[in-house]
Amino acid sequence: MLLLLLLLGAGEVLYASIPQSAGKALPRPKLVVGIVIDQMRWDYLYRYYDRYGEGGFRRFLSEGVSCENTMITHLPAYTGVGHATIYTGTTPAVHGIAANDFTIQKTGEAVYCVDDGTVEPIGSTSAAGRMSPRNLLASTVTDELRIGTQFRSKVISVSLKDRAAILPAGHAANGAYWFDSSTGRFISSSWYVEKLPGWLEDFNKQDRPRALMQGKWETLYAPETYTASTPDDTPYETPFFRGERPVLPVDMERLFKEKGYDIVKSLPAGNTLTLELARAAIAGEQLGQRGATDFLAVSCSSTDYVGHQFGPDAVETEDTYLRLDRDLAAFFAYLDQTVGKGQYTVFLTADHAGTNNLSFQQDHKLPVGGFSPARAGKMLRDSLQARYGRTDLIRGISNYQVVLNYDAIRAGKINKERLKRQLIGWLADYPHVAYVVDQTRTADASIPEVVREKIRNGYYPKRSGEIQIIVEPGCFDTNEEGNYKGTSHGTWNPQDSHIPLLFMGWGIEPVGRLFREVHMTDIAPTIATLLRIQMPNGCIGQAIPEVLKQ
Ligand SMILES: [Zn+2]
Repeated sequence: MLLLLLLLGAGEVLYASIPQSAGKALPRPKLVVGIVIDQMRWDYLYRYYDRYGEGGFRRFLSEGVSCENTMITHLPAYTGVGHATIYTGTTPAVHGIAANDFTIQKTGEAVYCVDDGTVEPIGSTSAAGRMSPRNLLASTVTDELRIGTQFRSKVISVSLKDRAAILPAGHAANGAYWFDSSTGRFISSSWYVEKLPGWLEDFNKQDRPRALMQGKWETLYAPETYTASTPDDTPYETPFFRGERPVLPVDMERLFKEKGYDIVKSLPAGNTLTLELARAAIAGEQLGQRGATDFLAVSCSSTDYVGHQFGPDAVETEDTYLRLDRDLAAFFAYLDQTVGKGQYTVFLTADHAGTNNLSFQQDHKLPVGGFSPARAGKMLRDSLQARYGRTDLIRGISNYQVVLNYDAIRAGKINKERLKRQLIGWLADYPHVAYVVDQTRTADASIPEVVREKIRNGYYPKRSGEIQIIVEPGCFDTNEEGNYKGTSHGTWNPQDSHIPLLFMGWGIEPVGRLFREVHMTDIAPTIATLLRIQMPNGCIGQAIPEVLKQ
């Protein structure tokens, strides 16, 4: 008893004399940098390989690993969905980001994936700041890092696109910052911060977007060396100015004068700007230099804008990737300097890929075609008018899905199951439609297993249309006039769903190339395993053991 009292009495001293840890501290990287290149196809690694320098994309191949067959396993292949999937390790069926713009099926309310009317813009007065991860229903690997270290780890996320900054940042981040096109400033919302940090105010004051848009966008090398692309002037591209030719050089000052800050998104300078901001965040937040494992999420969006405008076969796209390669090399050199070579881990992937231009493919005899949701929707309404005497039983077609109008169906005492069968029958006959699937009966659909899996993984009943349209492999949604300029994405096919996945740095086995198929959902659990933290709460992916050091 005396001993016990003595022990209790001396408790505080005893406790204080216990060393903080019994042995060596758990080794972890100082910083994880997640990079998402919007619309980057896996084959761009090799299409432009000869023209990349040693320090950018190729550095992953020499010092790290490229997972050569990384596939998206959900529909639709869009930006918000991809970013949510990369960071949660799960698909829309669980994380709920069913599309960039989805419909609340019960009410018909249209929702933008990161819209949040309950938060205030920070650093801006515009609606561009009313954004948050509220609609993201699962935790992210960045959330889990925060929780796993009792919030000692910092998570910062930057991008031009709001959704590409917010969804990677997750719910518990220290900051997510995105571009406000109306002011040329990077902003946030009250979800994350009460005011912009000093380093970001300083960055905004420099007005880098304006500075980066001085002079001309010229090809980095002599135009005739762009042999990975078509000749510069083709009918497959959308010019910056109506009636002019879609060619380089482009007068950026004129663009800025006529179109304002928004145009930086559509130039390689937009990627430069994003990576400059990433550096400012590392310096301002002391990321990777504080004795905790920090996380910086960077998403380069300009590749997507350039891709949509010019397509994968354009000189402009090739030049954008060559310039991005240089920007990445400079960024990695900065990380070596500030955090230390081998002290940080980087992964690089894409939110989705993109198809070759339809007219370009047509000109080379490939089987392609357009699918206009507006026109198909009109066909359905005409058929509904003839059969039911009313057109309001559907709300429309979006994300290759038919959205039903449940209020009208109920009010008209319509048999919903019969209606669905009719809609599916009408659509099945429509040009370039391969399959039409009742989302609630995918088990009955005679479709390839891989397509079925993607449909199921993409279906979140409260936010997805009940009927899924699968178009033929070379086909894409177009506007009513059948605009075949540039490119698009959103389907299950490899041109949209085969993405790059590269790792290098701390804890990564430099195996070069991994050939077995892995999935977008495997990224988050791989990073969680590397960091020895819990995987995100909706995770369905599996860690990729081959890329991790023992
Ligand atoms: Zn896009």
